Amino acid sequence: MVGNSLNREAVLEALGKVQDPELGRDLVSLGMIEDLEVKDGKVRFTLNLTTPACPLKDEIRASALAAVEALDGVSAVEINMGAKVPVGQSKSEHKNIKNVIAIASGKGGVGKSTVAVNLAVTLAEKGARVGLLDADIYGPNIPTMLGVDQLGGALDDKILPGVGHGVKVISIGFMVKPEQALIWRGPMLHSAIKQFISDVDWGELDYLVVDLPPGTGDVQLSLSQTLELQGGVIVTLPQQVSLDDALRGINMFQELKVPIFGVVENMSYLETPAGERLDIFGSGGGERLAQMTGVPFIGSIPIDPQVRIGGDTGMPVVLSHPDSPVSRELVEIAEKIAAQVSIQAVKE
Ligand code: ADP
Repeated sequence: MVGNSLNREAVLEALGKVQDPELGRDLVSLGMIEDLEVKDGKVRFTLNLTTPACPLKDEIRASALAAVEALDGVSAVEINMGAKVPVGQSKSEHKNIKNVIAIASGKGGVGKSTVAVNLAVTLAEKGARVGLLDADIYGPNIPTMLGVDQLGGALDDKILPGVGHGVKVISIGFMVKPEQALIWRGPMLHSAIKQFISDVDWGELDYLVVDLPPGTGDVQLSLSQTLELQGGVIVTLPQQVSLDDALRGINMFQELKVPIFGVVENMSYLETPAGERLDIFGSGGGERLAQMTGVPFIGSIPIDPQVRIGGDTGMPVVLSHPDSPVSRELVEIAEKIAAQVSIQAVKE
């Protein structure tokens, strides 16, 4: 039998049996199938993933293709891959910002800003609309790391963010001298954070990555009162002393009722030219912390001088050395975080 039984319903029924392995639901009920056309045995549709940074993109496409090809009467299948990032911020008034990801650490110097910058640049590279808010009053170094030294100007009564490597960026360092922000107390910080959101023309963003100051404090509280945070990421070093600080960061997110996407361990090891791995800052701490707290462990980043050079020169390592082990790890971490945002959004 050729052709007769093949119609839209049959195709949707077949696709309704294909699961997104990470989201645990089928492609049709997740609203991923659009523009379906069925004509003379030819099937064409758009498959919108929930993030352009989906690590399972090829696998999901292959499953959808196999399911449709197995139908009687199918002569050709054309799938256009797309992405529509779901809105996590359903309760916030700032709906132009779909999802907010906060990057935190117990103390300074562990690589929190490095993770924030490489995450933002990776998501933008994959096609997402990304903003990066540098709220680290103790060391607003995101502009240097992204190679952006000023705002994008003003439009009507709104401030335009600077743009670096496709990422829109606002830093507390653009607004005030660092010494000034340091002496601010709760109410002033709160109004500054509110301004960063309300007075800035962010446009439509799939993800806003926020680089928080180290530790726990007023900025964290103000941010969670201004925006609905989809999740937090804790960056730590492998050693015990860092873990105690990181634990406080985890407790902070829990108190603010912000889901924790995971723990990232930075400077996990150094690989010598001879291929030997040196545990400069101890080992396994991030994983122990994750186990202790029930938070997912989402990656270990090695030490690589290119990371530091990338930060100092405004060319993030994922762009300058995309094939290095450190960049591959950073990209994998970004994909895992994007997947967590989708999982969270689908749960709501
Ligand atoms: P934080 O935001 O936690 O204060 P940064 O991201 O500013 O930390 O990192 C501190 C310094 O360490 C920066 O100079 C950065 O380039 C460097 N750095 C961070 N991670 C690594 C790494 N994996 N390998 C080498 N240098 C790194």
